[in-house]
Order: sequence, then structure tokens, then C-alpha cells
Amino acid sequence: MNVHEFQAKQLFAQFGVPVPRGKEITSPEAATAWASELNTLVFVVKAQIHAGGRGKAGGVKITKEKGAVAGIAKELIGKTLITHQTGPKGRKVHRLLLEEGANIAKELYLSILVDRDTGWPTFIASTEGGMEIEEVAEKTPEKIIKEAVDPAVGFQGHNGRNVAFALGLQTMEPAVINPFVQMLGNLYRLFMEKHAALVEINPLIITKEKTLVALDGKVSFDDNGIFKHDDVQNMRDLNEKDPLEIEATANNLNYVKLDGNIGGMVNGAGLAMATMDVIKLAGMLAPYDVVEQYGVDKSRDEAYDTTTRMALGAGFDALRDAGIPLVMHYKLSLIHISEPTRPY
Ligand code: ADP
Ligand code: MG
Repeated sequence: MNVHEFQAKQLFAQFGVPVPRGKEITSPEAATAWASELNTLVFVVKAQIHAGGRGKAGGVKITKEKGAVAGIAKELIGKTLITHQTGPKGRKVHRLLLEEGANIAKELYLSILVDRDTGWPTFIASTEGGMEIEEVAEKTPEKIIKEAVDPAVGFQGHNGRNVAFALGLQTMEPAVINPFVQMLGNLYRLFMEKHAALVEINPLIITKEKTLVALDGKVSFDDNGIFKHDDVQNMRDLNEKDPLEIEATANNLNYVKLDGNIGGMVNGAGLAMATMDVIKLAGMLAPYDVVEQYGVDKSRDEAYDTTTRMALGAGFDALRDAGIPLVMHYKLSLIHISEPTRPY
């Protein structure tokens, strides 16, 4: 589950990671009121959608005029933003973050995630802040710094110092080395305590006042850990979810909305992936929707025989009624691509 930048920043503040003063805004009136309270030289109005690349797409507006803030809010709320991360349909803006402008001296990249190779929480850092990290990794992989943390030991000062020195903070701005090491420790705590899958700050800035500020924030949570955190659950924004996904969740179905025009109903992630591969092998549009359904209080095998069969039966009927072709993949080896008729 992803959260908005303003929510990520609330978590940052809670864990001692410095962020600009700011507030979530959903109307031009609220923008005017908060702008007066903010009392700053530069106002930054940022569209809150679950996608990056907003800056280049016109979703981040900067103004020195307090009086201009309401107009910007009016323009952005309700607008559909298309960024390189939203897909061509874009995402509608329902809320904004209005925050104080920062005096940027240098933009860095910093994140923490689990490295699949080692299975350890790992910091990723780069001097190329503000850029797409995937692009940096592809074009200039030597600019990507990695520091793994042994989860049995936890974060240690040397982990932070390794990253700080690899970034060259000692020549860039020695005054921020200690706060930087402390910040990494705080991010590690946030990552572990909240069962995050990714915590990303892009850009993390060094200000002209020689301080560190998280200017952007992204936090993704491991869906399997969310039930432990009421505060995280309350951050869910249904506007950002596909209505079909909301309906599926309400019916205890694991449903993943993807592009493509072939639906798959499967009772296991492995089977789903295999089916997807087979469809692709057949030269058809592979990305498709996956519905995983199995009994909650039964063994998977038993559930497969009962719950799944019933659910699939109903599903087949629904697909047939809607005139949608379907792919059947059963007993792992038999594949049947049917016309919209009941295949059994
Ligand atoms: P996105 O990653 O979606 O484009 P960011 O939050 O990273 O959005 O903002 C894009 C750029 O806008 C940043 O790299 C930074 O240069 C500028 N920016 C964002 N917030 C502020 C702020 N509070 N003060 C000054 N500049 C900002
Ligand atoms: Mg960013």
C-alpha cells in the first residue's frame, strides 16, 4: 500500500526526519488560511497523487505571492495529472500539500528497501537527487551507493558514515554528516517498525542554511503488515485505488488490476504467474487481471476443491454473460482458451 507525500512526511516527522512545515489542503479557502499561518517567503503547492514525476508534469507550483496560493489550489484540485508514472490515463488530484519553500543547495537521493539478493534492509543513496533513480542506475550505475544493514544487529553508526562518505558529504557539506547519520538511523526505525517495503526521499536536500530536509517522500507498506498498524490503515486513500480493487477487497479476493484484455482467475500466485507466461508464450496480451481466491479457514487444497470451484463457477458465468473470453489453466498443464462459453 502506498501513501501520499504529506502522509509520508507526517511519518518522517514522527520519526525525527526533518520536513518542511506543511499541511494537506483540499480547497482554495483552506489554502488561503494555511498560507497565512505558514508565513513564509516561498509557498510550494504540490499535487498529492500516488505517483512521482509531478514536478515535470506541472504538479508542483512555487510562488512568492501569498495571494496566488488559492488560485493555484483551484487550478490543481480536480485536475488530472499525467506523469511518467501514472500511465496515459493520469490521476485526478483530490488533495494538495501546501508547504514552505526550501533553499536548496544540493539535491540527494536516499531510500531504504529490502535487497532481494541479500534479504537485508539496504540503503540506496546517490548524489543525483531529483532524478529518476532507475535512470541513474541504468546510465551511471557507479553513482548508486548501497549499504546493507544486518537486521540481526540493527542500524549502526558506521552504516550511516559509510553512506555519508560514499556520497562525499565531507567535501560537499561536513556540517550535515552527523545529522545525516542520525537521519539514516531514524529512517531505519521507521522502515522496520512500520513494516515498510520502501521509504524513499527524492530529493533529500542540503539547504543553504546547511541543514538536511526531506523535500519529497514516498512510503510503501508491506500489505501483510498493515493490519498491525491502525495509523497506516487510516492513511489508505480509496481515491487512489481502482474501484474494482476496492470491490475485490470487500469480497476477500486478491485482485490485481493490470493492463491487457485477458482475465485470469487463479488460486495461487505461482499458478497466476505460470498462466501469465503461457498466455504471453501464445503471443497474446499477457498482462492481465489476477483474482486469487481461496478459503480463509480451510487448507488450500480443501479450499481449492470447494471455495475456488464455486467462485470460479460463478466467475465463469459472469464472464460468459459479459461476453468476455477466458483462459482456463487447470491441473497446471491443461490450458484451454475458450470463446465465451462455459468451459466445463
Ligand atoms: P516529484 O518527484 O513528484 O516530481 P518532488 O516533491 O520531488 O515531486 O518535487 C519536484 C521538485 O520540486 C523537487 O526536486 C524540488 O526541486 C522542487 N520542490 C519540491 N518541494 C519543494 C519545496 N518545499 N521547496 C522548494 N522546492 C521544492
Ligand atoms: Mg520527487
